[in-house]
Amino acid sequence: MFGTSWSLLLPSLHDLIPPFLLAVPKKKVSHSRKAMRSANKGLKDKQNLVHCPGCGSAKLAHHLCPRCYSSINRAWKAMTRSDDPAS
Ligand SMILES: [Zn+2]
Repeated sequence: MFGTSWSLLLPSLHDLIPPFLLAVPKKKVSHSRKAMRSANKGLKDKQNLVHCPGCGSAKLAHHLCPRCYSSINRAWKAMTRSDDPAS
């Protein structure tokens, strides 16, 4: 008796779930096939390396030099720490 009253109140599962299908592969991809597919996806050599004009270490072109950035950040943090005596 309890189940019948609930089934009248709630919509069916068809109304709750939106009508779309998930893409599902038809067969299991074997280890060999998976390895063959990913064989040509290996790491490639970086071509966009340049020398930093500030410190001379290698860095990515059009990127901040991590060595210069860390030294500037360290100096800036030391400066703010010495300026603020409360903390
Ligand atoms: Zn640098």
